[in-house]
Amino acid sequence: MKVRVRLAPSPTGTLHIGTARTAVFNWLFARHQQGQFLIRIEDTDKERSKPEFTANILEGLEWLGINWDEEPVIQSQRVESHRAAIQTLLDLGLAYRCYASETELEAMRQEQKAKSQAPRYDNRHRHLSSEQANAFNAEGRTAVVRFRIDDAATIRWNDLVRGPMHWSGNDLGGDMVIARRAPADQIGDPLYNLVVVVDDAAMGISHVIRGEDHIANTAKQLLIYEALGLPTPQFAHTPLILNSEGRKLSKRDGVTSISDFQTMGYTAEAMANYMTLLGWSVPEGMNERFTLNEAATVFNFERVNKAGAKFDWDKLNWLNSQVLHEWNKEQLLNALGPLWAEAGWSLPEQNWCLDLTELLGPSLTVLKDGVEQARPFFEQPKLEADGLEQLAIEGAKASLGHLVDQLEKAAWDGFDKQQAQQLLTNAAQNASVKKGVVMKSLRAALLGRLQGPDLITTWGLLARIREDLNRLRRCL
Ligand code: GLU
Repeated sequence: MKVRVRLAPSPTGTLHIGTARTAVFNWLFARHQQGQFLIRIEDTDKERSKPEFTANILEGLEWLGINWDEEPVIQSQRVESHRAAIQTLLDLGLAYRCYASETELEAMRQEQKAKSQAPRYDNRHRHLSSEQANAFNAEGRTAVVRFRIDDAATIRWNDLVRGPMHWSGNDLGGDMVIARRAPADQIGDPLYNLVVVVDDAAMGISHVIRGEDHIANTAKQLLIYEALGLPTPQFAHTPLILNSEGRKLSKRDGVTSISDFQTMGYTAEAMANYMTLLGWSVPEGMNERFTLNEAATVFNFERVNKAGAKFDWDKLNWLNSQVLHEWNKEQLLNALGPLWAEAGWSLPEQNWCLDLTELLGPSLTVLKDGVEQARPFFEQPKLEADGLEQLAIEGAKASLGHLVDQLEKAAWDGFDKQQAQQLLTNAAQNASVKKGVVMKSLRAALLGRLQGPDLITTWGLLARIREDLNRLRRCL
């Protein structure tokens, strides 16, 4: 059997991390099985679907390195097939028109509530006589189309993640609406459970891999496959992504869109890596830092957990720093250069920029750190409390004064580490302080504070753009 899987996002919002993780699992499975990964844009909710969300979803997938094998299927373009399937079910007597008005349905629900019963449709129009139907038609009532669900049915499937599953027809809420309300001689807009079955079958989907919030839908969809005489795919329900309190990760948890993570400075590699670990565990001996291609060589559902996957910022940060530390300075500059330009800084020559990225690279967790940490190289930093304190130490300013004298004489612009050390030694001797005092004071003068990257390299970079003297002079 040819493996064909799909991601079926609704373009009613930006690419959510849950959807992206579903995409990752589908893609890994497809690649592992030498199968195909497809996309279907489920845009049947006309009010909420927006082309810009479709664009955001596709761009996000591309950014993550998830490629697809055929042109995305646009669900709204297939509505005639959906209507035809509904007509087939009507013709077979497996679906029927339900004329119950919203008011009647609401009264039914209130009555159920009063009796502490679970809300369900009571199948009241399942066996309408043609006289009754005609009477409703004559009244000009609208109707939905409902699919018959036998209360006694038991639905079984072998879930690739969760093992044997069974569901009782009784628990599916009564006969299910498959087409929205419309004049009774028409078929209204086809609804999700029907449409998904028709499309998955038409696309030849062999495995449906999606979040566990769809388990009840799977039970319903299996009944529709059977009714339409379509071959059923296999199903795998992946665990939900949970927040730190153990609840489903939602908009309220702050960032949930892939584009948010991108803006925050996470790399595509780290995101793809991390999302794979949200619910899948690596085989023994495999490092948790891997590429999607590496994961694809070993991916299977046996290592997908049933329990929800807690979102762990520390792990994501760790992975992101791993990725940034693996990058060479050219890759780093490719990513940081645009952020620096966005910050309004005009960038000096390429080699200087490369040397700066090399200096900052080892301390980056997210790309944005590379903006904050680069700031004092592009803007004169203000003197912080610890910097001022250092400069007030006896002999500090005198030693810097001597450094300035030497620099002026040397008309010094390049950098030679040995020469730099010599200048510091001279300054220390001249001001009768320890060399450590000169170094700390120099750091305070250059960066405004006592924390920062390697001092001599920092000094060298600032010297090359003729900033070191400026900053030393302002302290004297
Ligand atoms: N459009 C549905 C969703 O976004 C697809 C679910 C499915 O994979 O069948 O949740």
